[in-house]
Order: sequence, then structure tokens, then C-alpha cells
Amino acid sequence: MSAAILDGKSLSEQLRAEAAAEVADFVKQTGVVPCLAAVLVGDDPGSQVYVRNKEKACEKAGIASQMHRLPKETTTDELLTLVDRLNRDPAVHGILVQLPLPKQIDERRVLEAVSPMKDVDAFHPENVGRIVQGRPRFLPCTPHGIVEMLRRNNIPTAGANVVVVGRSDIVGKPMAILLMQRGPAGDATVTVCHSRTRDLPAVTRSADILIVAIGQPKFIKADMVKPGAVVIDVGMNRTEAGLVGDVDFPAVKEVAARITPVPGGVGLLTVAMLLHNTLAAARLQQTSR
Ligand code: NDP
Repeated sequence: MSAAILDGKSLSEQLRAEAAAEVADFVKQTGVVPCLAAVLVGDDPGSQVYVRNKEKACEKAGIASQMHRLPKETTTDELLTLVDRLNRDPAVHGILVQLPLPKQIDERRVLEAVSPMKDVDAFHPENVGRIVQGRPRFLPCTPHGIVEMLRRNNIPTAGANVVVVGRSDIVGKPMAILLMQRGPAGDATVTVCHSRTRDLPAVTRSADILIVAIGQPKFIKADMVKPGAVVIDVGMNRTEAGLVGDVDFPAVKEVAARITPVPGGVGLLTVAMLLHNTLAAARLQQTSR
């Protein structure tokens, strides 16, 4: 039997509507309009699309946005100067530096320079530390979107064997941390795999919930999936055939119980969670005044 589709489109619409309602409430109570500043360095076409989508989503949710475009030859110091200005601007609540940055820029220094109170991507080491300790200020957008997808589709994580393939700081690591935390939407038994994992198919076949974020088109085949598993495909690979995930969707959907498509799955949730984080940042800054 073919797997049921986990629909990211309708969920993202729901999450965005919730954010818009909460923003409207916040503006009514405080007179403050949450504002996200996006910084885009260079002319990477993918990044331009992502930033434009984020801007549009803000507008629809009643969140103000600023767009800061810098040329591709920008130096680390020039970018740090802009980040410092945005950190000190009381009208800016969230700061997003679109990755990847051009090679000459020290990415780590830039991400560490963003005020932890405005770090809506949750990349700052202070925020990462808080997430690990289970007292987050912001949750990282893509893993948080996946948690919401599992929770709102009544997919239990407590005691489940979750296998995360990929150990990036943006997806794999924070995903594993969120699902192993105590409490609702956590309590999973989590295994993290990467390019050095021995006998990957044996590990992925042990997963009740398989989450794949490796950036390799159609890498996960049907024989790597336990029958009846839930499969979450984070991959977004631009190929000649269009956007494809890390999972061989047509084959795996015949084995899995539930599966996310690409496009139309996880990708849409990331922007929705960014709206929630921008509002959370505005709230934080309002209460710390
Ligand atoms: P990275 O390139 O930063 O990390 C890839 C990870 O996958 C690494 O840990 C790497 O292992 C592992 N890996 C690569 N090849 C294999 C393999 N053959 N077997 C096992 N592990 C492997 O990727 P990201 O996490 O940034 O992104 C992953 C994918 O998710 C991409 O397609 C990206 O476009 C997409 N993405 C989607 C988002 C969304 O909003 N939906 C957001 C962010 C990313 P090792 O560490 O050993 O090198």
C-alpha cells in the first residue's frame, strides 16, 4: 500500500495563519510591529529566492522586513559593521544572515556577532547551548518545522527509534537534539548517521521515523526503509529534472506508512517557523526593556 503524504503546504499555511494572528495580537497590545532584517551577500540565485520568499511571508503575516544587499566582494569587517548596526537598532527584532556566505567571509565570526536576542535562525553558540540544555530562546527553523509536522500529524516520538541521516549544524544536529529532549514531541531514541557510518542501510532500516538531510538526490532507496516507517525528506537538490529530495520518493512511498514530498514538504515549514521566531524575538525585546 502506498504511503500517506505528509502535506507541508497545508501545514505551513496553518502555521503562517497562526503567526499572523499572534502578530496582530502583539501589535494591538504593544503598538510594536515585529521587524526582521535579512542580509544577503552576493548574488547566489538560490539565496535570492529564499530571501524573497521570507520577505513575502513576513509581509503576509504583518511582520515588517528590511532587506540589506551587499556585493559579493564584501569583507568580514564590512559585514560585521552592518550586523553591529542592526544589533543596536531598536526597530529591528530579528536578524537573518542568509547562508552560504562568499568564501572570503568568516561565517563563524559573523554568526557569533549577531545578538543572541535577535538570532532568529538560532545559530549563535549561546542559543545552541540553550537548546542543548532544553531551555531554548528560539528553536532552529527547519528542525522545529519537522517537530510540528510530527506533532500535528499525531506521530508519536516517545520511545520511537528515530534515525537522522546528516549531522550539519543547521539540520541534522539540532534535529537530533530536539527529538531526544524530555517531554512532548521528544523522548525519542535517536541515532545520528553521516558519511562515515558503517552499513548505513542496516541503521536506516531500524528507524520508526527516518529523517534525511544529506543533500544527495534520491539517495535513500526502498530497501533502506523499514516497512511502515515515517520518512521525512529535508533534501532540496536542484537537478535537471527539477527540485528533488534525498529520498527516492516513488519507490520509498511503496514501503513507508507516511512520507513528505519534495517539493511541498519540509521546505515550506522553515519560513513559517521563522515568522514565529521573529515574533518571539520582538516579545523578548519588549519584555527586556
Ligand atoms: P550539509 O552539506 O551541511 O551536511 C550534509 C550531511 O550529510 C553531512 O553530515 C554529511 O556527512 C552527510 N552525508 C553526505 N553524504 C552522505 C552519505 N552518502 N551518507 C551518509 N551521510 C552523508 O547539508 P545540510 O544539512 O545543510 O543540508 C542537507 C540537505 O537539506 C540539502 O539538500 C539542503 O538543501 C537541504 N536543506 C533544506 C532545508 C529546508 O528548509 N527544507 C534547510 C536546510 C537544508 P559528513 O558530516 O560525514 O560529511
